[in-house]
Amino acid sequence: MSVARNLLLKASDSKWLRENGTKAPFVRRAVSRFMPGESFDDMVVAARAMAADGVTAVFTRLGENVKDLAEADGVARHYLYGIDRIHKLNLACEPSIKLTQLGLDIDRELAYGHLRDLAAQAHAAGNYLWVDMEQSPYVDVTLDLTRRLRAEFPRVGVCLQAYLYRTREDLVELMARGIGIRLVKGAYNEPAEVAFPKKSDVDANYFALAQLMLDAGSRAAGARPVFGTHDMTLIDSIRRHAATTGVKPAEFEFHMLYGIQKAAQLRLAHDGASVRVLIAYGAYWFPWYMRRLAERPANVGFALRQILP
Ligand SMILES: Cc1cc2nc3c(=O)[nH]c(=O)nc-3n(C[C@H](O)[C@H](O)[C@H](O)COP(=O)(O)OP(=O)(O)OC[C@H]3O[C@@H](n4cnc5c(N)ncnc54)[C@H](O)[C@@H]3O)c2cc1C
Repeated sequence: MSVARNLLLKASDSKWLRENGTKAPFVRRAVSRFMPGESFDDMVVAARAMAADGVTAVFTRLGENVKDLAEADGVARHYLYGIDRIHKLNLACEPSIKLTQLGLDIDRELAYGHLRDLAAQAHAAGNYLWVDMEQSPYVDVTLDLTRRLRAEFPRVGVCLQAYLYRTREDLVELMARGIGIRLVKGAYNEPAEVAFPKKSDVDANYFALAQLMLDAGSRAAGARPVFGTHDMTLIDSIRRHAATTGVKPAEFEFHMLYGIQKAAQLRLAHDGASVRVLIAYGAYWFPWYMRRLAERPANVGFALRQILP
C-alpha cells in the first residue's frame, strides 16, 4: 500500500482533524466535488439531473460509528423520511446505509431493529435496500444481519470488498440466498492477514469474482450483480466477458460515486449499460472524504489547489 494512501486513511480516523479541518473553507470547496451538498434536497436535485441523462441513483447520508442512542434513532428516522420522499417523487433512487450509523457499536439488536424498519419501508415503497461494508471486524455481523433481513425481505443487497481473502466464499454463499452483491475493491486500511496488500492482486481478484457473479449458476437464486468501480479497464473486461458468455447488459449493473468519472458514467449509460451513481450528502463527511482522497492521492493536489480563490 502506498505511503500516501496509508497516511490519508490514518487521517480519516483523526478526531482532531475532523473537528478542525472541516472548518477550513478550502476543504469545504474541495469536498463539493464529491457531494452535491449537505441536505437531502441537494441530493434530490443531483439525482433528478442524472435521471435526465439515463443514470439512476443510490443515496446515502454520511455518518458512521454513531455512539449515541438518540443519534442512531435520528439516522433511522432520516432514512425512513428519505425512502418515503423518494417514493412520492417517483425517483429511481435506492438507499444505502452503514450499520454503525444505525447504532451497531451500541447494540446489535438496536441496529437490526432500525435496519428492519428501513427494509420494511423500502419494501412497501417498491424500493431496494443496500447495506454498505465497513472495516473487516464488522464483516461477520454485517453479513449475519443481512442474511436475517433477506429471510423476510426479497430486495436486499450488501457490499463485498474484493481486497478481502474471504470474499469469494461469502459471495458464493450470499448469492445462493438471493442477496444482491455490490462488489467494490475496498476503501479501508486493512492488515495483510485479511486483505491483499498489492493493488494488482485486488484488481485480479475483483475480475475473478466478477466472472463468478455473472455466472448463470451464481445468479440462479435471483441475486443482483452490481459492480461498484470506476476502473475502466475492469469495466471493459466485465462487459466483454458478459458479451462472450451471453449475459445481457440489463442483467448486471455498474455503480459509481458522484463526481468521479462522470463522462464515463454517461458514456456507459448511452452504450446501454445499467448505471447508478451513489450520491452522498450530509454534514459528517470528513472520514468519507479522506477515503476518497486515499483512493487517488492525486486528489490531494486537486484539494490543495482549492486554497487559491
Ligand atoms: C457505488 C460504490 C459504493 C461503494 N461502497 C463501498 C463500501 O460499502 N465499502 C467500501 O469499503 N468501499 C466502498 N466503495 C469504495 C471502493 O471500495 C473503492 O475504494 C473505490 O470505488 C475506488 O476503487 P475503484 O474500483 O474505483 O478502483 P481504483 O483502481 O481505485 O480507481 C480506478 C480509477 O477510477 C478513478 N478514481 C477512483 N477513485 C477515485 C477518487 N476517489 N477520485 C478520483 N478518481 C477516482 C481514477 O481514475 C482511478 O484510476 C464504494 C464504491 C462505489 C463506486
